[in-house]
Amino acid sequence: MEENVIRHSFNVTKKERSSLKKHGAFLIWFTGLSGSGKSTIANAVEIALSEKGIHTYTLDGDNVRKGLNNNLSFSPEDRTENIRRIAEVANLMVDAGLVVLAAFVSPYKQDRENIKNIVGAKNFVEVFVNTPLEECERRDVKGLYAKARAGEIQNFTGINAPYEPPVSPAIEIDTTKVTVKESVVKILEYIDSIPII
Ligand code: ADP
Repeated sequence: MEENVIRHSFNVTKKERSSLKKHGAFLIWFTGLSGSGKSTIANAVEIALSEKGIHTYTLDGDNVRKGLNNNLSFSPEDRTENIRRIAEVANLMVDAGLVVLAAFVSPYKQDRENIKNIVGAKNFVEVFVNTPLEECERRDVKGLYAKARAGEIQNFTGINAPYEPPVSPAIEIDTTKVTVKESVVKILEYIDSIPII
């Protein structure tokens, strides 16, 4: 089947779409433990970008796990497939000229490497939200750590599933040391250095 799928050559390129918008298009990927602050910071960055007239879209567990990926579990294989599909969707959105923000625990190094390969290294900004487990557990935003400790959730990252930290993320944030506002400034400063097109 696949051998008969031939890529059509379209005339409007990413470059032209980006120049219409007058801003670059890339993926800002937030990784870290549940409750580390990924969604909070991604949301604040999205507001700041939007105020600058930059077209954005945020992918997170709520809009992906409930739709596109609603047939996937939290087993290692399904986590990998979850991330692969998100990366492919993000890649289309980047190609369409958007700044895409994605907030996912994404605990496996190999999966994050795969995202980089799918969207291209120059379009991939990895943000490691490195809040200590004790603090994430203290916050327990969704009550999931308590459930995992009580043995009610299997494969919960940090408790009974591993988290492999990024080796050289573009940006690293420990939310016990910096505020949301400071995190936004740090990320905006970084992406300011990314070429417009
Ligand atoms: P995640 O998306 O990583 O699961 P959330 O953003 O949903 O995490 O939750 C992080 C929680 O931590 C929020 O309740 C947020 O208000 C709180 N928090 C406290 N300090 C910070 C900070 N400096 N940066 C980000 N979040 C913070």
